[in-house]
Amino acid sequence: MECAIKLLDLADKRWSSDPSLSRRYVELAWRLKTKFNLRFSREVKMHFCKRCFTIWRPGETCRVRIRDGVLTVTCLNCNRVYRLPLPAKR
Ligand SMILES: [Zn+2]
Repeated sequence: MECAIKLLDLADKRWSSDPSLSRRYVELAWRLKTKFNLRFSREVKMHFCKRCFTIWRPGETCRVRIRDGVLTVTCLNCNRVYRLPLPAKR
C-alpha cells in the first residue's frame, strides 16, 4: 500500500518531464493493487485513469466538474468519464 502510493506520487512528479514514465508508475501501482488485493482509499482512486493510467491533474490531464452532488472527472487523454457521488452535506 505504501509503495503503491509512493509510485503514484512519483508519477505525479514525473508527469511534466516524462509522461510515458509517469504512466508506467501508475500502471505499476495499479498492478500492485490488483495483485495484493489492496484497497485504495477514495482519494487515491480519484488520482489517475484506470483505462490509460494517466495521472490526473485538474485542468491539465483531466477536467473536474461537480453537478448535483456528483463529482465528474473526464480524462482528457482517453476521454473516459468517471462519476463519483459526493457525500451529502447537511
Ligand atoms: Zn484515461
